[in-house]
This record gives sequence, structure tokens and C-alpha cells, in this order.
Amino acid sequence: MAELFPTSRQAALERLRCFAPKAGRAYASGRNTDVGPGNPTAVSMLSPYLRRRMITEREAIEEVLKHHSPEAAEKFIQEVFWRTYWKGWLEMRPAVWDHYLTEREAALADPPADYQAAIEGRTGIEGFNDWAQELVQSGWLHNHARMWFASIWIFTLKLPWALGADFFYRHLLDADPASNTLSWRWVAGLHTKGKTYLARADNIEKYTNGRFRPRDLAPFAEPLIEAFETPAPLPPRDAQTRVPDGPYVLLLTEDDLHPESWPGFETNPPQEVIVLNPSPQEASLNSGTIASQFSKDALQNAITRIDRPVTFCEQTASGLTQTMSGRTADRLVIPYQLSGPSAPSLNRSLVKLEAAGITVHELKRSWDDHVWPHATAGFFKLKKKIPKLMAQAGLTH
Ligand SMILES: Cc1cc2nc3c(=O)[nH]c(=O)nc-3n(C[C@H](O)[C@H](O)[C@H](O)COP(=O)(O)OP(=O)(O)OC[C@H]3O[C@@H](n4cnc5c(N)ncnc54)[C@H](O)[C@@H]3O)c2cc1C
Repeated sequence: MAELFPTSRQAALERLRCFAPKAGRAYASGRNTDVGPGNPTAVSMLSPYLRRRMITEREAIEEVLKHHSPEAAEKFIQEVFWRTYWKGWLEMRPAVWDHYLTEREAALADPPADYQAAIEGRTGIEGFNDWAQELVQSGWLHNHARMWFASIWIFTLKLPWALGADFFYRHLLDADPASNTLSWRWVAGLHTKGKTYLARADNIEKYTNGRFRPRDLAPFAEPLIEAFETPAPLPPRDAQTRVPDGPYVLLLTEDDLHPESWPGFETNPPQEVIVLNPSPQEASLNSGTIASQFSKDALQNAITRIDRPVTFCEQTASGLTQTMSGRTADRLVIPYQLSGPSAPSLNRSLVKLEAAGITVHELKRSWDDHVWPHATAGFFKLKKKIPKLMAQAGLTH
């Protein structure tokens, strides 16, 4: 699998270049088929790189538009916007992530009897068992398999959705707080109220090229009900749009591993780089062997490319302040801090840092700044804005 997902920006760009000519009709007609591990697929398999911005959404669409009109590549472009939509949606409702953590913790403290068999792929359900094992062994599942798996988990096995989201998050190379949590909630009928996703044997048989036809799947998918009320959207924080003039230290995080493409970076790179060691919570959430190794290697690839002195720092409240003290630069540049596992401890560190007289310069990409405000409701509202958003980003055929 290391070969399937080589951990470098160069490899991601190469994958994008190979995929782009196929991002039109071939993608639209083949994207729903899960051909199984090791077989040529119609999908791009770029998500582990896009999730960390080893390549950006903008770069992916730009490359595809070298080969196709926006109309011909419409499906692929929409999928890329789904990623940004989920991020923006969660960013405006951070309480949904906190709610997931609470549900997860409660369920892990007292897991149902069938849980272990489900994550080990010993349920007797054809397909489901294979996907459980494929996920653990490879860190990867096709989108349709993720949908079938989540649906069977929730509606056939009647396991808590948060335990399923935890299992995915632990092992996926592209594990993402927004895409994962909200996709699970969408399948369960908790995102679009009353709308669920039901896995059907004939659909699975058709889109696995006849590999699986599971029996005894739930015939209905009654939406889950929870006491938690989805909060009204809060506007995302304002942040800087380019690196500052003058000396600064860069805090490199997994949410953005291509700072070289930030406006102003090329002419004013950082003096030094700080990398935070994962907090215990982060480490426990994405603890699958393959996924955690991929994260480490992806960070290392960015460190090597940026080629500046690097310090690794513990995520204690005063760890960052101590690391910054004595540095000639009294400015720390960080990528926009998304809702997710590192946010609480990092926010505590940033408060201490500012109290110690260090300026924190949070940088938001214009892509997020333009797209997120349209994630107030369902995706279809945002979808209508895609042509305008692409023009705003200067993306043309
Ligand atoms: C239950 C469930 C959990 C999921 N968890 C994650 C997760 O943790 N991280 C993650 O990145 N994706 C997640 N997805 C979304 C989707 O399955 C993956 O992004 C997709 O399979 C990636 O494969 P690809 O790169 O070949 O996608 P392609 O089909 O080639 O699409 C191109 C890009 O568009 C984006 N994209 C495609 N489909 C989706 C989608 N449904 N939602 C959001 N973005 C999408 C991805 O960035 C992807 O790389 C989840 C979906 C489900 C149903």
C-alpha cells in the first residue's frame, strides 16, 4: 500500500497529472464502481493529498481544466467542492465536532456486543467484512463502499454511528473531521433531517461488478433521532490572506502542508519551522498504523521541501511559548485552525503565546474564504455558485 499512496507532493502531482485526462466522461460514468483493491479505478485517489493540502483543490481543478471544459468535468469539480463544503459547514458549527467526540467517548466506554466482530470483519455480511479488512489493511475505501459500509453499520447492525465514524477516522489515510463526521451523519439521517442512505444488495452487486451480493440487509433506513440540535451557522473567523512582511516562524500543521503556495511565502519564507507532536487525543483518534505513518511521512515531506531549521514541540499549554522564547522572530504564522482534534489544545497554547507578546498570524486561503460562506445550508445551494466561485478563483478552461 505504501506504493499505492506514496507520501510526497511530487507523487501527488504525478497522480493528478495522470488522472486529469480521465476526469471527464470516464470519471462521471465510472466513479460509482468499486472495482476492488489493486484494480484500475475511475476515481482519482487524491483525497489523502487533498485533505492535507499537499495539493490544493485549486491545483486539482486547474489541471483537470487543461483537458476538459468545466461542463465535461462537472462531476469531478463538484466532488472537489463537496470537500470544501463539508469543511465550511463544520467550521460554522464547531459544536457538531464536539458532539461527535462526546458520542464517541460514551460509545467506546460501553461498546455493543457486535462491535468487535464488525471492526474485525466477522459479521457474516458479504462485502461488509471485506471492506472492514480492506480499510484496516490499506487505509483506503472507495466512496461507494464507505456509503454501503456506514449504512449497514447503522441500519442492519444497529451499531452507534459515532463508533463507525471512529473506526473510519482511525484508519483512513484521508481521515478528515468534516468529511468523515458529516458523511456519517448524512447516511444516518442526521445531516439532512429525515434523509438517510440505504445500502441495497442489488446496488452493491451492480457497483462491485458482481463481487458481492450481501443477504439480509435492513429493508428500511429510519432516520436516527438525537437530542442534540444542530446549531445555527456562525460566520468563520476572519484571518490574514498572505504571510507578513518581516521575519516569522511557521507552525506547520497537517491542515495545510503546502505553505509554499501561500501568497507572499516565496519572497518571504519563514526563518524557522515548528511542528507540534500530536496531542494524546489526536494520536488516539487517528491511531491506525498505516494512517499515522502516512501523517508522519506527509509532515516530513513538507519539512524537507521547506528546508528550514525545525523544532518539534509538545502540545502542552506552555510548550509553544517556551519554544518561541529566544527566537529572533516574535511572530508565529499558522494555517487557519479548523475544528478538529488539535483545536482545543492549540487554542490554549495560542492564548498563552499572545500573552507572552508573540503575534499570532493566522492565514486563511482565499479558496476557503470564498467558498465557506456558501455552506450555510445544503450542498445544492453551494453547487449553484460553483461557476461564480471558479471564476473568482481564476479557474478557466
Ligand atoms: C461515511 C463516509 C466517510 C467519509 N470520510 C471521509 C474522510 O474522512 N476524508 C475524506 O477526504 N473523504 C471522506 N469521505 C468522502 C469520500 O469517500 C472520499 O473523499 C473519496 O472516496 C476520496 O476518493 P477519491 O480521491 O478517489 O475521490 P474522487 O472521486 O476522485 O473525488 C475527487 C476529490 O473530491 C473530494 N470528494 C469526493 N467525494 C467526496 C465526498 N463524498 N465528500 C467530500 N469530498 C469528496 C475528495 O477530496 C476527492 O479526493 C467519506 C465518505 C463517506 C460516505
